[in-house]
Amino acid sequence: MSDPYDTIESLAEAVIGGERRALARAITLIESVREDDQDRAQALLAVLLPETGRAVRIGVTGAPGVGKSTFIEVFGLHVIDGGHRVAVLAVDPSSQRGGGSLLGDKTRMETLARSAAAFIRPSPAGETLGGVARRSAEALLVCEAAGFDVIIVETVGVGQSETAVAHMVDVFLLLLAPGGGDELQGLKKGIVELADILLVNKCDGGLKDAANRLRADYTGVLGLLRPTDPRWKTVALTCSALEKTGIDEVWQAVQNHRAALGPDQGIAERRARQSKAHLWNEIGDGLRTAFNRDPVVAGRLAALEDEVVLGTTTPHAAARSLLNTFTGG
Ligand code: GDP
Repeated sequence: MSDPYDTIESLAEAVIGGERRALARAITLIESVREDDQDRAQALLAVLLPETGRAVRIGVTGAPGVGKSTFIEVFGLHVIDGGHRVAVLAVDPSSQRGGGSLLGDKTRMETLARSAAAFIRPSPAGETLGGVARRSAEALLVCEAAGFDVIIVETVGVGQSETAVAHMVDVFLLLLAPGGGDELQGLKKGIVELADILLVNKCDGGLKDAANRLRADYTGVLGLLRPTDPRWKTVALTCSALEKTGIDEVWQAVQNHRAALGPDQGIAERRARQSKAHLWNEIGDGLRTAFNRDPVVAGRLAALEDEVVLGTTTPHAAARSLLNTFTGG
């Protein structure tokens, strides 16, 4: 049988038509590390770009066990009930190390996965964080082109992946839970500073009081932090993903954030900043790769490194000399 998506045009058309198989195929192309696939992926994105940008992009992070997948499933179904289409993407650089994925296995979010209005894609494996993050950002665009108007990008609140996700979404949600022992949960302050919405999950049963206390503690912390945007005051909420309470309030907070920033002002500015930062990251990565591959640089590198180590030249002078070699200056 002939491949219905054998050209970029036919694949793009099917993605825009909302065909799930085409969407999955497009994301596989984006995730491929083969050079010719990457060329095709960029050609596909060029066709899809005019169809992107219309979704609400939500990032969700939190330590393992706080209830991310339980929450995203319930939240996703709630948003679908409101008439939306929801895509869930994961950024999980731990999946590169073979097994041991921090975001768990395929059994997550089973009910949401069965919904015709949902699309769930686990993290691409075998990559650096930078590679995973770029592919997720591009997968997000493909999902938008396919008509998903709410995109949730999930990551684990350890390491650097939460920063990468915060820089690809409109609104960033930090999930917390009581019972982690020491209450201001060993989370790096940096993560709290990135959050637009703090959400204390597991506000149910015997954990209810502790959840409310945790929310109050974080509300206090928020008063000391610089807001993510001068137009927005970060909120701390509670919910129970298990009992499905407080879920609509989270969706309302997402809408409030959007309204406070203004879709054509604050959100557009945020996206513009993100695009510029991604551009410079890509330029930096490309230059570094080209530099490392340059045979003349390689020929001089070891000797200059030795000189720097011996103290016969400064790192600055050695770097300038190598860069001059590279640029032909
Ligand atoms: P993740 O690692 O952050 O994705 O967390 P999971 O969604 O896998 O949940 C971890 C554990 O917390 C599971 O046993 C869930 O059943 C439980 N859990 C999730 N949400 C809630 C909640 O709202 N209340 C309570 N009591 N338990 C929850």
